[in-house]
Amino acid sequence: MIDIKGVTKKFGSLQVLKGIDLHINKGEVVSIVGPSGAGKTTLLQIIGTLDKPDSGEIVIDDINVGTLSTNKLSDFRNKHLGFVFQFHQLLPEFTALENIMIPAYIAGASKKDAKKRAEELLDFMGLADRSSHKPAELSGGEKQRIAVARALVNQPAVILADEPSGSLDTKNKEELHQLFFDLRDKFGQTFVIVTHDEGLAKLTDRTIHLKDGQIIATDTATTVTRDGSENIFSGKITDET
Ligand code: ATP
Repeated sequence: MIDIKGVTKKFGSLQVLKGIDLHINKGEVVSIVGPSGAGKTTLLQIIGTLDKPDSGEIVIDDINVGTLSTNKLSDFRNKHLGFVFQFHQLLPEFTALENIMIPAYIAGASKKDAKKRAEELLDFMGLADRSSHKPAELSGGEKQRIAVARALVNQPAVILADEPSGSLDTKNKEELHQLFFDLRDKFGQTFVIVTHDEGLAKLTDRTIHLKDGQIIATDTATTVTRDGSENIFSGKITDET
């Protein structure tokens, strides 16, 4: 689904990514963690085709994104990728429903189709009764769920999230985290989530530890059973690289 090979990136003289190799499977929820400045957001932006690597390759859904022209790239982004950021970035003058519909319009959907998809998502998020509210009339957790619905409206194969719950309180955080897994189970999306939230990282299928521009360890969710029946360990196995 996502294949990252030998990705490097420099800003001036700062080598931010030093050769990243990573394969992410369809339907996997992967977290990227690491200290501030490790290169997490830079890697996410490169996976999201919002920035280009200096060298290396990104293949998403069998498409080598480095070979796409600027026009094709934005088309690819609209169809295949959805973004969720720390701050919802909803447009204040539009209602919740309209905010969700906008990317569908941009991708060429009819008004009727965009509205139907947005309404379905609002319903799934349990926010159907907030449809005509403007962002200022929504709580922080509701705004972030609307932002997730907006990221999903074009049914992208991949959702890229940068500190999606960074601005939320504990209750809203937990609800948002659960939502990611519900969405994966319902729509089969692949999630790549940059986070400082250990609680969220623990829930994900795989945690990639980035430090100084390199992957230094990977934790994989594992359940170990005795005699194929009794569950003796359920947690994450760390693989140091
Ligand atoms: P944080 O957890 O604090 O968000 P991060 O791991 O996401 O950190 P990045 O945002 O990827 O780190 O930044 C990695 C390094 O690259 C930092 O030292 C940052 O200052 C630098 N950097 C990021 N973007 C740019 C840019 N556009 N121009 C110059 N330097 C940049």
